[in-house]
Amino acid sequence: MGKEEKEFGGTTGAIGLILFSHFVPFYFTLSLRYSSGGLYCPSSFDELIQNFKETCSPTWSAFFIYTGFCLLQLIFAAILPGLRIKGLPVPTENNRQYEYNCNALASWYVTLILLAALHFTGIFRLTILADQFGSVLCVAVICSDILSFIIHFYAIKSKQTCRMTHSPIYDFFMGVWLNPRIRILGQDVDLKMLAEVRLSWLLLFLLIVSAALKQYEAFHTVTWPMIFILTAQLLYINACMKGEECIPTTWDIFYEKWGWMLIYWNLAGVPFVYAFQANYILVNSLRTQQPTEGISMTLIMVLFVILFLAYYIWDSSQAQKNRFRMQQRGTYVPRSAFPQVPWNTLKDPKYLKTECGSTLLIDGWWKYCRKPHYTADICMATCWALSCHQWPGVLPYFYPAFFFGMIVHRYTRDVARCKAKYSKDWKTYCDRVPYAFIPGII
Ligand code: NDP
Repeated sequence: MGKEEKEFGGTTGAIGLILFSHFVPFYFTLSLRYSSGGLYCPSSFDELIQNFKETCSPTWSAFFIYTGFCLLQLIFAAILPGLRIKGLPVPTENNRQYEYNCNALASWYVTLILLAALHFTGIFRLTILADQFGSVLCVAVICSDILSFIIHFYAIKSKQTCRMTHSPIYDFFMGVWLNPRIRILGQDVDLKMLAEVRLSWLLLFLLIVSAALKQYEAFHTVTWPMIFILTAQLLYINACMKGEECIPTTWDIFYEKWGWMLIYWNLAGVPFVYAFQANYILVNSLRTQQPTEGISMTLIMVLFVILFLAYYIWDSSQAQKNRFRMQQRGTYVPRSAFPQVPWNTLKDPKYLKTECGSTLLIDGWWKYCRKPHYTADICMATCWALSCHQWPGVLPYFYPAFFFGMIVHRYTRDVARCKAKYSKDWKTYCDRVPYAFIPGII
């Protein structure tokens, strides 16, 4: 159990990020309610508390909705059929290889069918999520904080920790447990995979569908910006589900521990912060009662073109790299999950052999730059924000700005890890593929 270098500014950075991460979704929720998604500036502290109580107090229905959703996903993860994939050997656990039942796609389809049935029969109207947005958020934040403590102390008590720094707050933030699993209904379920793939993205999808349904209820139409954001997020979320079998070997699974950072952002941050654009469009169309006024159809068409192009590069580049790696390991299984984009599997691609035994792809999209999928992701994030162009607010642009900062920081962390792992081979790789994000520029 080695010691770890501190990232994210160490303990001070961890405290700052915990506070900031709690502030953002609540601020956005209050802004949606009291400033129609504009900057929210209460005139006094009392007003802030009053607004917070009115909008974000946890309710029993919010509690049952949120925990019911999480429990349902946990059960689906245990019982639905999926592709069984072995993860990478874990050096801190005698090179043990965990098995993952990759059934997110089945969970995704079953959840959609089930919730559509519940919604259209009136048993559980999805619009309740938009109505109780603040309360469900508050429950999600409380649950993720409590879960972070449980996981932290359970891992310490059961001696399942790894790469500790002995700085308690930093360890709590980054996590201490690499492979948190529970046995449910006779099956081992990996909690980190469950949270990363399903809880975050599936809940996000339900939140944006809820906003779209609210708009439809009010105007008997869904506007083009709302259709755009739904399409953009549907594509993204569907891709996360259909590519789940590639995730066990990513660094989130084999390297990142399940601490407060991942737990909070998967269980609360991603769904509630990333749902801002859809809710911004909803509250402003309700405020103005002019849902279509100010929409630039030219911009919407341009956004669709950029979105599909960026999605194509994002999906195919990740598929190329992940399938290449799976082919190298002999674990590749062709899948037909919808949509399969052209050029997602390379035949006899060029690659670099390295001294540590791993291979680095230098073909397909990966011959042009080292992070084609990050660039495509930034383009998609910008498109999400531009879907709100109808009204002149700045908060919709928080997401691309945040995403840009987060992904550039992730890039620097990844480069540091790869330099340490590949040593001089990393330099050879960078000489072969000199640009990180945009060929010929950067
Ligand atoms: P990558 O998919 O870039 O994975 C990085 C790892 O891949 C490296 O550490 C290295 O691991 C391996 N690798 C790097 N270059 C090559 C190569 N040429 N050939 C083969 N293997 C290589 O990273 P992420 O996990 O950061 O990103 C995955 C996706 O998730 C991205 O699209 C990103 O934008 C997205 N993302 C989205 C977030 C969101 O909130 N929306 C948050 C975070 C990520 P090794 O060699 O050790 O195996």
